[in-house]
Amino acid sequence: MEDGILPGWTGRILFYDLSKRRARVWEYDGDMALRFFGGRGFAARILWDMVPRGADPLGPENKLVFAAGPLTGLPGPSTGKLVVAAKSPLTGGYGDGNIGCLAAVQLRRAGFDALVVEGASDRPVYLLVEDGKAEAIDADELWGLITFEAERRLRERHGRGAGVLVIGPAGENLVRYATVVSQEGRAGGRLGMGAVMGSKKLKAVVLVGSRDPEAAVPAELKRLAREAYEDIRSKKGYGFWMRQGTMMTVQWAQENSVLPTRNFSEGVFEEASSIDGYAMERAKIAQRGCPLCVMTCGNVVRDAEESPVEVDYENIAMLGSNLAIGDIRRVAVLNRLADMLGLDTISAGNAIGFAMEAREKGLLPDAPEWGDFDAARRLLEDIAYRRGELGGLLSLGVKRASEELGHEAEGFAMHVKGLEVTGYDCHAAPGMALAFGTSPIGAHHKDAWVIAWEVKTDRLAYSREKVEKVIWMQRIRGGMFETLVACRLPWIELGFDLEWYPRLIKAATGVSVTLDDLFELADRVYALIRVYWVREFGGWSREMDWPPRKWFETELTEGPYKGHRLDPNGYGRMLSWYYEARGWDERGVPRKSALERLGLGDVASALSGIVGLRE
Ligand code: SF4
Repeated sequence: MEDGILPGWTGRILFYDLSKRRARVWEYDGDMALRFFGGRGFAARILWDMVPRGADPLGPENKLVFAAGPLTGLPGPSTGKLVVAAKSPLTGGYGDGNIGCLAAVQLRRAGFDALVVEGASDRPVYLLVEDGKAEAIDADELWGLITFEAERRLRERHGRGAGVLVIGPAGENLVRYATVVSQEGRAGGRLGMGAVMGSKKLKAVVLVGSRDPEAAVPAELKRLAREAYEDIRSKKGYGFWMRQGTMMTVQWAQENSVLPTRNFSEGVFEEASSIDGYAMERAKIAQRGCPLCVMTCGNVVRDAEESPVEVDYENIAMLGSNLAIGDIRRVAVLNRLADMLGLDTISAGNAIGFAMEAREKGLLPDAPEWGDFDAARRLLEDIAYRRGELGGLLSLGVKRASEELGHEAEGFAMHVKGLEVTGYDCHAAPGMALAFGTSPIGAHHKDAWVIAWEVKTDRLAYSREKVEKVIWMQRIRGGMFETLVACRLPWIELGFDLEWYPRLIKAATGVSVTLDDLFELADRVYALIRVYWVREFGGWSREMDWPPRKWFETELTEGPYKGHRLDPNGYGRMLSWYYEARGWDERGVPRKSALERLGLGDVASALSGIVGLRE
């Protein structure tokens, strides 16, 4: 156990209680730093330790964590990110997301590795954190504003360099997939982190700092960072990435029959070329991205209403092909609207696609038809303001909406654990289905985007190799990158070598780690998140790790994988192998021995009073 804090970390976490309007600082020790690193690791530990079991996600007992990592704000590729986490009002389990923005850097410059907001205010406020101090400031005049306007006013007041995290009407109205937004298009926390902010009457967090975080060996870190940036710029795919960024994925997804189309009914879309990276390039007017990044992927286009909007693959797929809208500039309007309202673009696209299918099946006659842009536009606003029956229903997310509509609707509600599936159809991709099924927050691609590898291998196989690949990716993407906190895209998109990270960590913190050490840390964080869910749900069952029914029950009717669907027996086998490899029992509950091996003996003891732990 280390007593003092190590270089690289500030060693300080700010807690601000909105009920009492009081700040306190937790000076954590090196043991916490080394075992959980930061970002998702800190968030999971704080939520496990400090949010009581059964807390209402939208009540004052829930805590909202903004956590950076030991690399955040220091020189190094794509390290301008933070994690926002809380008990999720969408799923009832652990929820988090990351967001690349100035606020990440300013949190550290203000002297903290993390900010934890507790309690709830009785009137609208924003929280100003400035050089070690915090203050809640009345925000009556900001309440009700769209995110862009609220942020603009806060920047006028606190300076252009301030880090601002803000919610829109969706967060204020407690929409269960409201996000936290920054810099007009950067968004994070798709599991309703914006609603948690809204429940605390917290319109925004403003972060201002004047002191850069200190590295253990600053000159060495600067030198390494310079070399790393050069390495990224020299990669073969760099030029095309700078042209299209993640938007190149539309064409790839279409060619490989995984482009979500008409609520994940098909993997190909007849108008894909109207929403792909080339269509984006024709409408592109600017490019932007996160701090400390030299491969900025925020492509800004002029939308059909002549406004600028930053687009990426997930948004365009979920609000485009998934709704059968084949005009990128119109899809961009929906994207901008969602960002302005503070609504998660992925879940919103999923929910509207669900409603369109429900209309087709005669269950929701007032929902828009496929491809109806104007009706989809109106519905987005109705969801954010929870207006009308349909807006209110969809604001709950597709799991709850389908439960209200009945069994047939549950068959096409595209979610895992209550979180809406992101932009990859898995009728013919069992490995990616497992990645969605076992993601620690519900159906998200961020932990294991195994599909790019899967389509190049024995795609339709249900194999141990795929299980191992999912876990390997989860260790890197969901563990290492989410705790550091750094962007995974240099590695996944351009082949930036993972061995850079131990070197950067050593220069930043003085700590020698290997990739294996980081993978063990990742396993610890995964186990902790899993036991968090088990504690909240009073146990676990395999069905919780099961992909949506549609992928098993209906076949693709178009494209190269026509006639394919998932095999439940094959998936069940892979899930058992997954549990076995992680040291979890056949229910999906971590074994006592696995928790102890990861240094989570205290967690095992606490959990054993709730659910019987196997050895
Ligand atoms: S690659 Fe994109 S998401 Fe990653 S840090 Fe750069 S701008 Fe941000």
